[in-house]
Amino acid sequence: MASIPPPIPPRTPRRPDDERLMGLALDEARLALAGGDVPVGAVVVDAAGAILGSAHNAREADGDPTAHAEVLALRAAAARRGTWRLDGCTLVVTLEPCTMCAGAIVLARVPRVVLGAWDPKAGACGSVRDVVRDARLNHRVEVVGGVREEECARVLRDFFEGRRRSD
Ligand SMILES: [Zn+2]
Repeated sequence: MASIPPPIPPRTPRRPDDERLMGLALDEARLALAGGDVPVGAVVVDAAGAILGSAHNAREADGDPTAHAEVLALRAAAARRGTWRLDGCTLVVTLEPCTMCAGAIVLARVPRVVLGAWDPKAGACGSVRDVVRDARLNHRVEVVGGVREEECARVLRDFFEGRRRSD
């Protein structure tokens, strides 16, 4: 899970709260370990900074191929708001979202994504693809990458190294 910067600028400004919120996403990521899941965590906050939803990857725990942290956090936030539209919200996630999750972010009209580690193998926010900033869509997302990147990457690295050792 090497982290490489994506080929696509532009650099978007960080906000003072991004690092703290990534800490909450990291706490969520660690909760995934209990279920044997890849440790990825996500948090959705509204424009005022209130937490609307947080979740971790639960694919193994739930036996659900779509139970990625981002999708679960978006669902929780939409349920909390009582609407599918998440205008003004920020999704904070420890790993660059995949194609499915990037699609869900666009569908929820989330205007801003803050991510920790880039995913050069499957990332869809600038690495392999850029679903959220596709010029053909009428909704585009601001992407802030590399927030607490080393910590986010280390949680994943430790997980995969531990699994290799136990094979
Ligand atoms: Zn995903």
